[in-house]
Amino acid sequence: MKGFNELSIEKLKAELDAGKISPRELIRKIKKRVDSIEPKLHALNRETFEHAFNDIDISGSVIQPFRGIPYIQKDNICTTGIPTNCSSKILDGFVPPYTATADSRPTEAGFSLIGKANMDEFAMGSSTEYSAWGPTFNPFDTSRVPGGSSGGCAAAVAAGYAPLAFGTDTGGSVRQPAAFCGNVGLRPTYGRVSRWGLVAYASSLDQIGPITSTVRDSAHALSIIEGPDSRDSTLVDIPKEDYLKTIENGIEEMTIGVLDASNADWVDDRVKTVFDQNVEWFKGHAKEVREVKIESFDLLLAAYYIIALSEASSNLARYDGIRYGPSVDFAGDGRDVDENTASDLLDYYRKNRSQGFGSEVTRRILIGTFALSAGHYESYYLRAQKVRTRVCAELGELWRNCDVIINPTSPTPPFKLGSALDDPMDMYKADRFVLLQSMAGVPGISINGGWTDLDDDNSTKLVKSREKNFFGKPVKMLPIGLHITAPAFAESKLFQAARAFEREHS
Ligand code: GLN
Repeated sequence: MKGFNELSIEKLKAELDAGKISPRELIRKIKKRVDSIEPKLHALNRETFEHAFNDIDISGSVIQPFRGIPYIQKDNICTTGIPTNCSSKILDGFVPPYTATADSRPTEAGFSLIGKANMDEFAMGSSTEYSAWGPTFNPFDTSRVPGGSSGGCAAAVAAGYAPLAFGTDTGGSVRQPAAFCGNVGLRPTYGRVSRWGLVAYASSLDQIGPITSTVRDSAHALSIIEGPDSRDSTLVDIPKEDYLKTIENGIEEMTIGVLDASNADWVDDRVKTVFDQNVEWFKGHAKEVREVKIESFDLLLAAYYIIALSEASSNLARYDGIRYGPSVDFAGDGRDVDENTASDLLDYYRKNRSQGFGSEVTRRILIGTFALSAGHYESYYLRAQKVRTRVCAELGELWRNCDVIINPTSPTPPFKLGSALDDPMDMYKADRFVLLQSMAGVPGISINGGWTDLDDDNSTKLVKSREKNFFGKPVKMLPIGLHITAPAFAESKLFQAARAFEREHS
């Protein structure tokens, strides 16, 4: 069963190339769709249809392979002249004077930007509920979250706003929302895609990756944004590959590793049921399927959150109200006038930051600052880095015996809005399966592994009694993600395995 999105880059390109529809007509149709769905979905922080129409007019005579195909950027990817707010009050009104490489490249290839997507504030979260502008809803059941932090991107692609959205993945933020919204989410190898113009969360982990509705589209999208960029010194200089050339090659020659944690007691039974079926399918098609174990797997969650939050505390120090976003007034003479007037410089920082950041971002800055502070650095940050080194070594060993590794993308199906907000640990635990790739810098892709029946879930009685979801279709199923991991710079293998599965399941 497919998602609701009937759009794909390849399909739209064929229609545009054949002259069946003009770029202007296509964008107009998309706008109509967004107008009708967006009030109920809240996937976008802002629509940019004016820019899309302008681009089409300007580029009229230039030959561009993807001219007129709509796409979306997450709101932490800088776009010249278009506000980029990271769903944070502290960046309200910020309009970047430059464009991210991951945005200029799709534009040069002809894609038209139709909106900036909602997200968890500064990409910190797994449900898009930490957005200062309110949550995005899951298109398959609006009482549930779309995942996060690129939840706006994933919901928008699922709802057919565009066949492509670029999200960011520090610890799963492309792959987990893709799983929750039934689409394809790719985290490329660390060092493959330029991050110039991306608002940093945790620099040793951040990556930009596409959310699409098909695996082939994901390969197209990666080809467009990857490649050398002198403005990002973390890029690795490797020759470009033609992913589309090998993508249909199948998995007959591959050995598939099944991560043993996939069967842990913290994995929801509905996820296990779908994943078991996925494993059976691989057994019938791959050269070999074997169980693999990462001894330090259980340490990943703590280690990731220490590293990510430490780096975040440093990256977010730049937001003090002086250079970006709104700020309080400045009395400057020591008088404590009111909440909106600072008595001195320290008070100015304090008031701007405490009013600008939401509670989760504040919590993370505090934890990160603590973890890096003198006397604690060795017990937290340094130890977390040791875990990272160990995980990389263990994973390196595994590649001797398997080509790719599979596991569920998320331990649970899309969860209810509000259900993970009381205890921050509940939210962090949603990331358990997507941290390995982030910490080791290897690529991972989430594709749709199957569907679970809403009727099985006792907590969804309300939904059960509702007859239709907002697409007017009967509410029956929720998507479950299948995650595939490959060695560094082996995206071609990743696409090959993902496509082989997709070909027989869509
Ligand atoms: N959920 C994870 C976090 O909050 C991942 C976020 C991300 O990848 N940007 O850190």
